[in-house]
Formats: sequence, structure tokens, C-alpha cells
Amino acid sequence: MSYLMSNYAPLPVTFIKGNGCYLTDNNGLVYLDALCGVAVTGLGHSHPKISEAIQSQAQQLLHTSNWYHIQQQEILAETLCKLADMDAAFFCNSGAEANEAAIKIARLHACANQINEPIILTAIQSFHGRTMATLSASGNSKVQAGFAPLVSEFIHVNFNDVEAIQKYESNPRIVAIMLEPIQGEGGVIVPDADYLNHVQEICQKNNWLLILDEVQSGIGRTGKMFAHQYNQITPDILTLAKGLGNGVPIGACIAKGNAAKLLTPGTHGSTFGGNPLVCRVASTVLDVIKQDNLLSNVNVMSDYIVSSFTEKLKTVDSVLEIRAKGLMIAIELTKDCTQLLQQALDKKLLINITGQSIRLLPPLIINKEQADEMIDIICELVSQL
Ligand SMILES: *Cc1c(COP(=O)(O)O)cnc(C)c1O
Repeated sequence: MSYLMSNYAPLPVTFIKGNGCYLTDNNGLVYLDALCGVAVTGLGHSHPKISEAIQSQAQQLLHTSNWYHIQQQEILAETLCKLADMDAAFFCNSGAEANEAAIKIARLHACANQINEPIILTAIQSFHGRTMATLSASGNSKVQAGFAPLVSEFIHVNFNDVEAIQKYESNPRIVAIMLEPIQGEGGVIVPDADYLNHVQEICQKNNWLLILDEVQSGIGRTGKMFAHQYNQITPDILTLAKGLGNGVPIGACIAKGNAAKLLTPGTHGSTFGGNPLVCRVASTVLDVIKQDNLLSNVNVMSDYIVSSFTEKLKTVDSVLEIRAKGLMIAIELTKDCTQLLQQALDKKLLINITGQSIRLLPPLIINKEQADEMIDIICELVSQL
């Protein structure tokens, strides 16, 4: 019997240590981690520079409260703002909280423009978190089931459909649109190359805030620091978490222009948010990505993995489509494949299954040998389906 609530259904394995792309369980068995704790440990496990930053900061200072200046927060905010061409950052502890901050800023934007019952557009099949506001924003009825009444007011439109958004241009209650540049939980859905450019144009024309949720697609995952940089656009608000801390809990809501000025003293906060430890670690993550040229590794390995899958799976009938941007990779199958989760685990590979898709989020540091190991196991499993 367990004293834990039943909201997770964990696989029958317990990991006790990790090193690079590999995890070791309590029986000493070693697994290739092609999931990274869902896009979190991009630099791999026990990265020496991350361990060093944690150790050194723990010996210096863990927590003070945001009632005092926090130097590590200032440093991280400057780095992130310069990387994303943004003006100001707010730090919290998770992706959902980063999106909560973004939604609150959108509400303040409505207030400032005397819009009384503001509406935020979000996408069908999107995922923005599990808090009441973020599950209401998510375009997924499974996430919302049982939690009515939902937070109003979100309207869900088809993803990758510019016209679906244009239909709302005449509605004066719309104040923002919140999107994932690439839908992660939705199964790695990559929109048309110019989709976000059109969305930004519509936002600018109508004084709507463009909120991009890069909790999963940010921090190098797609081969650029942020996925929206493929479009050469700058959102009003950018949210980050997952890969930012490589395993320490940190989220960030970063904003530009007027959106960066709407949170004023007393309007928002977080006890733990942006403490010296997590900010020091996140700054180290960004340093390592730059110093080790990891964006280039992501692009090289992405091309290699996608072309290997394309070649090796081309005669397999159960493969419908391979979708990828950087190291966000999905193989969509023609049938349900939930059983692959356990079968991959038996072969010492950690993956995710989303609907009929295998989702792979391998570490940004993955090399060719490790990629081959992953590819071989997946191809074997898929061929036997
Ligand atoms: C995981 C995820 C979230 C939620 O992050 P948490 O840290 O679990 O709250 C929000 N948005 C996207 C796109 C995500 O992938």
C-alpha cells in the first residue's frame, strides 16, 4: 500500500541515479533516457557543471524571499531577456505558474484597455498546465474532466489555422492569444512555417497580446534557443520552465514592451520563485548550452535521427507519419500503441506515448551511438506491432 495519491500511474521501475543520457534503477539495470523527465534534463543527468553550481550555491545561500534583491535572479533575467529580445522576467516554480502569470498579465492588459470580460484564444489540443486557469486554457477535455466550473473565458480554436483566429478579429473582448509554437503534449504538432508570423500580424493589428508557451519547446529543444525564433518574431509574453532548470524547479514568464510593465508591486508573487539556487542553476544551463554548442548538436542529431527513422521505417505499414523539430520527435502510428511503453522499458529505453504517437525528447547532449541505440529499439518495437 502506498501513502501517495493516485493521480499518477507510475511504471514499475525506480531510478536511483543518473549519468548523462542514462539512468540506473534499484536493481543496477541501466536505461537510455529518451524522454528527459519530459523535456527537463536536456543536459543529461548529473551534469558536472550543474552539480557544481548546486553544491556551491547550497553552501552559499538558498533562499531569502523576494522582499530583498536577489543577484542570481538579476543575472538570469538579463541573460534570458537578451537571448529572447525581451524586456523583463518574472520567476516562478513551474510551467503552469509561468502561464498563470501570463494569463494574469493578459487580464491586466484588458483592464488597462477598459475591456470588462476579456477572452483569451487558445488552441485545440494545446496543453498549458494543471492549475485551474491553465487547465481551462488547455484545449483538451481530458485535462478538464471533473473540474467544472472552469475559469472563464478561453475560446479554443484549431491550431495551425489562421482563418479560425481571423474570425474573432471583430470581437472586442479578445485580449490575447496563447499558443505553443509546437504542440508538445498534443503529439509534437509542428504548424506551417509562417503560421506564427500570421498570428503575430493579427495580434499587432488588434492590440492582442501574443503569448507563446515554450515551456516544452524552449531552451534549445528544437534546435534554436526558442522555437519561435524560427519565425523571427518576438511575442509579447514568453513562458518557460521544463528545460530551464535541468531538474531544479523553475519557471519564467518573460515579457516585452507594455506587457513587461503591467505587473506592479503587490499584483503577483511567489515565495520560492527565483530563489538563488534555481537561478544560479538556470544560468549555468544557459552557459553550458552556449559553451558546448548544444544547439548545433540538436540540429545534427535531429537530422540524423529523423533520416534514420524515415529510412528504416519506410516499409513498415503501421507508421503513418514522422514529425520533428529538433529533438521534439514523434512517430505516429496507425493504431493504438500504449503497450510500447512497457515494451520499451523492458528493452531499457524510456519513451512517451501520446495517443497513437511515440514521443521522443532525448537529451540535447545525445551522441550518434546513443541515438543509434534509441533508433534500433524503436524500429524493432514498431516493426513487431
Ligand atoms: C509541461 C507543460 C506545461 C506545464 O508545466 P508544469 O511545470 O508541469 O506546470 C505547460 N505548458 C507546456 C507546453 C508544457 O509542455
